[in-house]
Amino acid sequence: MFAKFKDAQKKADEAWASYRPEPFGDIGSVDKLSILPRSEWYTENSDLLGEAGVSYLIQADGKRILFDVGANWKKEDPSPLVRNMKTLGVTADSLDAIVISHPHCDHLGGMAAQRVDTFMFSLTDADLTGITAYVPAPLTHPTATTELTVRPNVIFPGVTTIGVILRALWPFGLTPEQAIAVNVRDEGPVVIIGCGHQGMSRILERTRQLFPGPIYALVGGLHFPVTKSRVKFGMQKWIGTGKLPYQRIKRAEVDAAVAELKAANPSVVGISAHDSCDWSLGRFREAFGDRYREVAVGREITF
Ligand SMILES: [Zn+2]
Ligand SMILES: [Zn+2]
Repeated sequence: MFAKFKDAQKKADEAWASYRPEPFGDIGSVDKLSILPRSEWYTENSDLLGEAGVSYLIQADGKRILFDVGANWKKEDPSPLVRNMKTLGVTADSLDAIVISHPHCDHLGGMAAQRVDTFMFSLTDADLTGITAYVPAPLTHPTATTELTVRPNVIFPGVTTIGVILRALWPFGLTPEQAIAVNVRDEGPVVIIGCGHQGMSRILERTRQLFPGPIYALVGGLHFPVTKSRVKFGMQKWIGTGKLPYQRIKRAEVDAAVAELKAANPSVVGISAHDSCDWSLGRFREAFGDRYREVAVGREITF
């Protein structure tokens, strides 16, 4: 078990060391960007449903991109995601694209989806004909077109994926994850992250390789469940941490990440509660003060 994990770690490090992308160059920018969580741990009000999952509607000028499709832990139909979409008044057919961060059930719409390498909004899925889903692993969908995006990719002017970064996770093995970066005019990239298994340092470094200027904002998950797990049996504390089996993430590591992000000096920071405990969120909130944004279903973050 340890040997296999160490081997995966070595492969992830080799993959990181052997690839350095060219800067994007002139890829355009957007004037208006908003991030509206549809699936998250916390909710803006009691009409909305919270879960330990991620789905964010990203509106970049005229384009609507759905980033991940929630967790649907209880296998409900319609799922919390679909019910939240209805409450928030957005339909699946108004989407221009879907981006999946990584193939874990809390981002694919549940275990039923993960098991068969697909993603689903709900158990009886929406018709996504004509919509392209940019996926970091070979996933398919009954109606959407899927496109594997291992390398950094420009989806729409100013809207990009930063490419897959591999991480060894026990017990899952090598896990590919991608994040979105949206270039906001005169400000720079807003990085939007799923679980953050890539490790924050590598996400920041990759973003700097692609966008040589300062990072404008960072929003999403970083997987810092120190005092509490959002899913049962304390699971997040023990698995998927990037460490050897049963080694937990320490408070000092969260503080080191806070310090590293402070050095990057983004204007806006919002950390997902779906894979981080309240203690960790508090450290970021404290460090960034009025630059910090709460990430909750129905609460729009605008740029
Ligand atoms: Zn997650
Ligand atoms: Zn994950």
